[in-house]
Amino acid sequence: MNRCLRTLMALLLAAALAPVAVAQQTVPPAPDQGARLVILGTGTPNADPARSGPAVAVVAGGQAYLVDAGPGIVRRAAAAAATHGIDALDASRLDILFLTHLHSDHTVGLPDVILSPWVLDRPDPIRIFGPPGTAEMTGHIEAAWQEDIHIRLSGLEPREANPEAYRAVVSETTGGLVYEDGNVRVTAIPVLHGSWPHPLGYRFDAGGTSIVISGDARPSESLVEACGGCDILVHEVYSTEAFLTRPPEWQRYHADSHTSTAELAEIAGRARPGLLVLYHQLYWGATDEDLLREIREAGYTGRVVSAADLDVY
Ligand SMILES: [Zn+2]
Ligand SMILES: [Zn+2]
Repeated sequence: MNRCLRTLMALLLAAALAPVAVAQQTVPPAPDQGARLVILGTGTPNADPARSGPAVAVVAGGQAYLVDAGPGIVRRAAAAAATHGIDALDASRLDILFLTHLHSDHTVGLPDVILSPWVLDRPDPIRIFGPPGTAEMTGHIEAAWQEDIHIRLSGLEPREANPEAYRAVVSETTGGLVYEDGNVRVTAIPVLHGSWPHPLGYRFDAGGTSIVISGDARPSESLVEACGGCDILVHEVYSTEAFLTRPPEWQRYHADSHTSTAELAEIAGRARPGLLVLYHQLYWGATDEDLLREIREAGYTGRVVSAADLDVY
């Protein structure tokens, strides 16, 4: 053994015999840090490549609570996990979802969020809360992908650890308290949206943080009441000025289904959120600056931002 090697071994031995520091939990586990709002997709049915389908996540206590499943939801969650270091948005951990309504722009990502995380080793089925019709929709998805599910379970893929996790466990609601755990309390809010019988918004209360999400809604008094000074109101919106360029038959539809900047200024003025976040923006050629200007000109004086995908509040 040469001298160099002997010296190295002596050093290794000394290191092995040195007292080992016991890992200390330097951050107290409990203090309630409230919730963060992660915007996964701000889109609408319009195929805007910069705006994924409507989906947001409330992240609290290391768990992500998804609202809506627009197209692209799993990849946007992965992008948010990577960009912001939010492990709760890793694909394999997406296992709680709340649906506002069953319009395709809010649900085309459903098979993605049900099946992709299963393939990526999500241990348990996803729990889905939504209006009546949600269970029927997820049942059709399971039936549509039955051959995929069969092949994955009977072929060479190692699925022993989570053979049932392709399933969706659905609870339907028309309003009221729908979910509660150690992190959050989630209340479904009946709203108005065209001819949908039970469209919903949601209020999340998490460690002193309150977040209200409109889903798709025309002006709805229930959202004013549900917010009532909440920390964040996430509300859909369309440009009042650009609306006037739309054909009359579409104006009729939009006025019955969605909320203009002028209407939102009035709603938010009474709801008094700490921060108003615009999402599901219908621009029709307007810009974010136009939306914010229209809201200001309509008299709203509170804090307001127009969200982009992957924003965090
Ligand atoms: Zn929509
Ligand atoms: Zn809708």
